[in-house]
Amino acid sequence: MMASTGGGTPALHGPWNDAQAQLTEAVEHLKCAPGLHEMLAMPRREMQVAVPLRKDDGTTAVFSGYRVQHNFSRGPTKGGLRFSTAVDLNEVRALAMWMTWKCALVDVPYGGAKGGVAIEPRDHTQGELERVTRRYTSEILPIIGPDTDIPAPDIGTDERTMAWIMDTYSVAKGHTVPGVVTGKPISLGGSLGRAQATSRGVAHVALMAMASKGIEAEGATAAVQGFGKVGRGAARLLSEAGVRVIAISDVDGAVFAGDGIDVARLGAHVDREGSVEGFEGAESLDPQALLTLDVDVLVPAAVEGVLTAANARDVQATIVVEGANGPTTQEADAILIDRDVLVVPDILANAGGVIVSYFEWVQSNQAYQWREREVNERLEEKMTAAWRDVVDYAGAQSLTYRQAATALAVRRVLEAHELRGLYP
Ligand code: NAD
Repeated sequence: MMASTGGGTPALHGPWNDAQAQLTEAVEHLKCAPGLHEMLAMPRREMQVAVPLRKDDGTTAVFSGYRVQHNFSRGPTKGGLRFSTAVDLNEVRALAMWMTWKCALVDVPYGGAKGGVAIEPRDHTQGELERVTRRYTSEILPIIGPDTDIPAPDIGTDERTMAWIMDTYSVAKGHTVPGVVTGKPISLGGSLGRAQATSRGVAHVALMAMASKGIEAEGATAAVQGFGKVGRGAARLLSEAGVRVIAISDVDGAVFAGDGIDVARLGAHVDREGSVEGFEGAESLDPQALLTLDVDVLVPAAVEGVLTAANARDVQATIVVEGANGPTTQEADAILIDRDVLVVPDILANAGGVIVSYFEWVQSNQAYQWREREVNERLEEKMTAAWRDVVDYAGAQSLTYRQAATALAVRRVLEAHELRGLYP
């Protein structure tokens, strides 16, 4: 059932390569023993499953599914479930490792995990997606649970997906287990404020980064790549703070308006048409050009590997706030550092989601709901504390924010590991 990675560190490529390179930098900075580096480089548990689907037309298709638990020294593992044809084992491994660092950095009592199914959700009906989700859940059921590994939404999944996972898991256990997932619908024990939490954290950190550079929100400009659960809310909250969001893209296209896009109107357009394309309140733009616009803040909030050696020299933004996981390749990161672009790394910038997921898990396990104001206040407190930790450590050690954030996180994971000791 469970496959180990076998024979040392798994092969490197794409985001997994980037994640490994970041880890190597952190362990070198922390002067860790090689054995500890090796332990952190290798996911603790991986599961690969075939997910057969009976389609509405009676035919059958089979999709690859994965769940990777990178590290559980600090607690049960936590991480999203992605539905995308780009999903493969190495991508899931990278995303799981980043979750370990993210949870440690914002000090929630979890290790990191990630799941994925290599399926394009837009090609399937709700009924088909429900059957795929339930079958995938029953395949990975032995390794998930409120005390072991807790999925949440990611690209291509949402609160409906979480409700199906919770129900499938609960049916198998014979009683309702709301704590097995977060990002659930409110009526099933979801947390107030969870749907917007990642975006709220992104916007909060973007505003702190702007303040640190002496940029006033009022009149500043931003471009946002991705208009899903993270990008849409981030664009809305930034524009509510006075920032002019001049460009927004999704997988189908991009739109531009020099005097600022009306994000609510664009949202209504996307709800109707399924894409930002054809929005009347803005002109259309080459989606690649969005990344190199002359803006104060660039928020990549779609997929990994979009800022590369090929375009990083053309990035004109003063600040890049990584709403997505892994949007900047290792080569691009070096170029951006060289060019003095302030990069707020993913494990800090988009940690609002896992912070409120943690609050949701606490509420689910206690069967007691907090008020939304309380959730948002505690979220901002935790984001601000993590931001301060990173800024202070980066300053004291002459590191970039990504190096500082990763090193702080790795140090916390190693502390937990050392306190627990190696069994046997
Ligand atoms: P989503 O599926 O809700 O939205 C993804 C958006 O990106 C869509 O608008 C899609 O059209 C667009 N997109 C996809 N490929 C693109 C491309 N090549 N170019 C431009 N746009 C593209 O997903 P999401 O939950 O918003 O996740 C976005 C990113 O944020 C992912 O990297 C995810 O891992 C990360 N993230 C999400 C959460 C969360 O709570 N949902 C938390 C932390 C990090």
